[in-house]
Amino acid sequence: MYNIVLFGPPGAGKGTQSEKLIQKYGLTHLSTGDLFRKHLGEGTELGLLAKKYMNEGHLVPDEVVIKMVEEKISETKDSQGFIFDGFPRTTAQAEALDKMLAKHELEISGMIALDVPQDILRERIKERGKTSNRADDQDDEKITTRIQVYMNETLPVASYYEKQGKFQKINGVGEISEIFNQITSVIDSY
Ligand code: AMP
Repeated sequence: MYNIVLFGPPGAGKGTQSEKLIQKYGLTHLSTGDLFRKHLGEGTELGLLAKKYMNEGHLVPDEVVIKMVEEKISETKDSQGFIFDGFPRTTAQAEALDKMLAKHELEISGMIALDVPQDILRERIKERGKTSNRADDQDDEKITTRIQVYMNETLPVASYYEKQGKFQKINGVGEISEIFNQITSVIDSY
C-alpha cells in the first residue's frame, strides 16, 4: 500500500503522471483541483465557494480543502492507497493529512517532487489552456499569481516531508515515459 504525494508547481505534469501511476499501482487518484472543478461543474455550494479563489489563482481556505479530502478518504473503501495531487498545498494541510491518515492507521510513503523551470511551466499551462477550458490556464496574470502562490505558500510543504526523510525530487522535463520511469523507481524503493 502506497500513499504518495505528487508535488510540483502548476503545469509540472502531476495530473499526467498521476493517471499513469493509478493504472500501474491500482491507487486512488485524489486531486483536489479536479474535485473542486467537479463541484464547480455541478454548481454545488462548495463549488461556488471555491470558484472565486480558483479563478484568481489563489488557494481555497485550508479548512474547506481539508474537509473535502477527509470526506473523500473516508468514503474510499478497499483502496490500495492514494496519489495526492495538488494536495497538501500548505503546511497546515500537510499536518491535517498526517492526522487523518493516522486515524485510518495509514501514513504517507513519500513525496515526489517534479522539478520544472518556470518558463517551461508557463508554456505548458498556456498550451493546456487551449483545450482545458480553465479560466486560470488562459491568462498571463493568473498564471503568474499561481506560480507565486506556489513559491510562497506551497514550497514550504517540501521541507515538511524532507524533515521526515520522505522527500525526493526528480527532473520533470523530458519524455512523459522517462519521467514516469523515474517516479516508479522511487516508488519501488519504498
Ligand atoms: P490545480 O488543478 O491543482 O492546479 O488546482 C486548481 C485550483 O484549485 C488552485 O489554483 C486553487 O485555487 C484550488 N486548489 C486545488 N487544490 C488546492 C489545495 N490543496 N489548497 C487550496 N486550493 C486548492
